[in-house]
Amino acid sequence: MDDPRRRIPRTDALLADPRLAPYVGERGREAVKAAVLDAQQRARAGEVAPERVADAALAALAAPPGLRPVLNATGVVVHTNLGRAPLSAAARRAVADAAGTTDVEFDLATGQRARRGRGALAALAAAVPAAGGVHVVNNTAAALLLCALALAPGREVVVSRGELVEIGDGFRIPELLESAGARLREVGTTNRTHLRDYEAAVGPATAFVLKVHTSNYRVEGFTAEVPVEALTGLGVPVVADIGSGLLAPHPLLPDEPDADSALRAGAALVTASGDKLLGGPQCGLLLGQAGLVDRLRRHPAARAVRVDKLTLAALEATLRGPAPPVARALAVHADDELRPRAEALAARLAAAGLPARAVPSSARVGGGGAPGVELASWAVALPEACAGPLRTGAVPVVGRTERGQCLLDLRAVDPADDDALARAVLDLPR
Ligand SMILES: *Cc1c(COP(=O)(O)O)cnc(C)c1O
Repeated sequence: MDDPRRRIPRTDALLADPRLAPYVGERGREAVKAAVLDAQQRARAGEVAPERVADAALAALAAPPGLRPVLNATGVVVHTNLGRAPLSAAARRAVADAAGTTDVEFDLATGQRARRGRGALAALAAAVPAAGGVHVVNNTAAALLLCALALAPGREVVVSRGELVEIGDGFRIPELLESAGARLREVGTTNRTHLRDYEAAVGPATAFVLKVHTSNYRVEGFTAEVPVEALTGLGVPVVADIGSGLLAPHPLLPDEPDADSALRAGAALVTASGDKLLGGPQCGLLLGQAGLVDRLRRHPAARAVRVDKLTLAALEATLRGPAPPVARALAVHADDELRPRAEALAARLAAAGLPARAVPSSARVGGGGAPGVELASWAVALPEACAGPLRTGAVPVVGRTERGQCLLDLRAVDPADDDALARAVLDLPR
């Protein structure tokens, strides 16, 4: 049988390709070799055809190195594949300032060591007065891992079968908890879980009851779940993984859980993401009873999931305000603000001879929360064939293809980027 992997060219043959020569001078021999080896590896994995290995290496070398800024015209406000929350201008400045030497763990007044990231922690504590203690780790997965490591090794975590969540990219919260040595005690069914199910499962082996917000799916129809408030009567700590990162109730997202409400309802600990609806950097917020938060903070593994100075700087600036782009994207009024922008953009493009129209659209919060909630929006509609070239242009624009059109939805686009968006479209090869 013909194994296509046998047709992958040898490394020395690929390196002899004259098209690679300019990159040897520009990037160095090692970088060129690395690109070739990587392309061969991708061919072995079936991602690249054997006859395209040299092309793949060339394309990798031609692309500018590093992560690229992208305009999010998908209509998905919190887009995980596009880096979730874009930071506010204040948070970006704070990151740039903290990137050098900084007093992240040092008290300039006394010259002594100080609590790491105390500014960010103070801002977080001020934003959630119901929390007796606060801590920040690498992301929500890390926050849950720390809960399990510190509170549940060899013990049970009680969780509803309706809340066994796969976060994304194949990672699952139940498996994460088990990887930390906790035993999972599943209760109820996929659609219905009652207080009596929890009561029957809670016992001496219980470390905590976990309430997970189903942030990326909805169970509809004949359903029942037990709110945090009712779970707090079980006599064991309740950990509420709210996911999205709302610190207080949001008027436009009434079904989205928030940290303040969960704590007031009696949750011992709340875990939440910093880069979803809070609109800040990737991090995991741990909020709750002072004694428990301290136990987590002092656990040896806390050091392995701690955040860096850049994250602390961005988080503090996000919390101190002004409101970050995610908050503005959620609050913006479709007809009053998005429609005039879409019409102005479409008129500018049409004046240049492009078949562009302003059309009503429907945006979403995204993996960050509020599954099923539709946000009215406006978009610029272009021919579907524009989608690919827009993604690979000098300023990449990621739109949404729908009904044979490429829609550039403006809800998640900063108004200050409208001009760049127009120029990206005008630069399309015609
Ligand atoms: C997003 C999410 C997580 C994972 O958060 P990360 O910050 O990406 O680790 C965990 N639980 C819930 C409910 C979530 O929505």
